[in-house]
Amino acid sequence: MLASFAVRAERSRGRRYPEAPHPYRNPFQRDRDRVIHSRAFRRLENKTQVFTGRYSDHFRNRLTHTIEVAQISRTVAAQLGLNGDLVEALALAHDIGHPPFGHAGEKALDAMMRAHGLYFDHNLHALRIVEDFEHRYLEFRGLNLTFEVREGIVKHSHTYPAAEYPELAEYLLDSQPPLEAQLLDLTDEIAYNTADLDDGYEARILNVEQVRAGVKAFERYYVEIERQFADAPERLKFNEALKRVLNLFVTDLWEHTAAKVRESGVETLSDVRGYGERLAGFSPEVEAARSECKQFLAENLYSSAALAPEKERAERVVTELFAYWTASPEKLPVGHREKVGQEPLPRVVCDYIAGMTDNYILEQHARAT
Ligand code: MG
Repeated sequence: MLASFAVRAERSRGRRYPEAPHPYRNPFQRDRDRVIHSRAFRRLENKTQVFTGRYSDHFRNRLTHTIEVAQISRTVAAQLGLNGDLVEALALAHDIGHPPFGHAGEKALDAMMRAHGLYFDHNLHALRIVEDFEHRYLEFRGLNLTFEVREGIVKHSHTYPAAEYPELAEYLLDSQPPLEAQLLDLTDEIAYNTADLDDGYEARILNVEQVRAGVKAFERYYVEIERQFADAPERLKFNEALKRVLNLFVTDLWEHTAAKVRESGVETLSDVRGYGERLAGFSPEVEAARSECKQFLAENLYSSAALAPEKERAERVVTELFAYWTASPEKLPVGHREKVGQEPLPRVVCDYIAGMTDNYILEQHARAT
């Protein structure tokens, strides 16, 4: 049962190249399936989420992170009566525009582009992937996704002012994205905030005492659990507290969003689009907990000395390869070389690098230097 303000597949604005309807899959289900069968999606398996150089069989990579985001998003969408197929397609696509080596790779790539007066943006790169770089169908380039999925890829986590991005005009930049897309930014954050605490602990960069001192929501649950299971192994108490934090975020997100929708008087999708602000969000208390958690991770995990060497290596590899191919474009593979002239050379090099997995870029780097 879809809510009155949910996106409906039968009212989709459709695809760039019209296609006959599928006999039993709706357009968003087809889009979800196209994303899963894309090369960019498979590459997520070998792209860094947080950890590149330290190994555990249990750390998240960008693919397992993506699956976690899809799970959380489906749960929240079902509670709110939103379109689960659209949410799932958006969740599975949300990170396909990420370059190798996580945030460090993205930062290095963007810095190299800025030196040429350009920039790198992973949402816009994801759009280029689904519009052009995936080439698997006879009749068009790209995946020919529905408008709603492309719109969500562009707008879920960032507002692009219409005046600055005329090339994105078709995506209704002056209106809010549907709730299905609004959710994504928040479920993504729920997934990585909790998973990064888990992986940081697994990596022994974070310890329980540190997390208890830095994340009040975690501490509150940990105290309860200590009382009840004092003799349990620390790892299990940690897991249980983290699970309760995850549950707090997810439950609050749907309850608070449902309340906001009710208070706002929003009844239809066009009401959602025309509303003055995003309706998906946390209550003020849980918003504070979210922000504390994020801050804690920034200070204690992402910027930890333990991760510095792999971040430095990521930056060096991206920077050196970018300089190598911009100086010697004849060394680019033929498919990319052909694009020089149609697009500025730095953009061609950036697109090539952004598509790489961690392994592939290291191989290229070893060969080039
Ligand atoms: Mg993500």
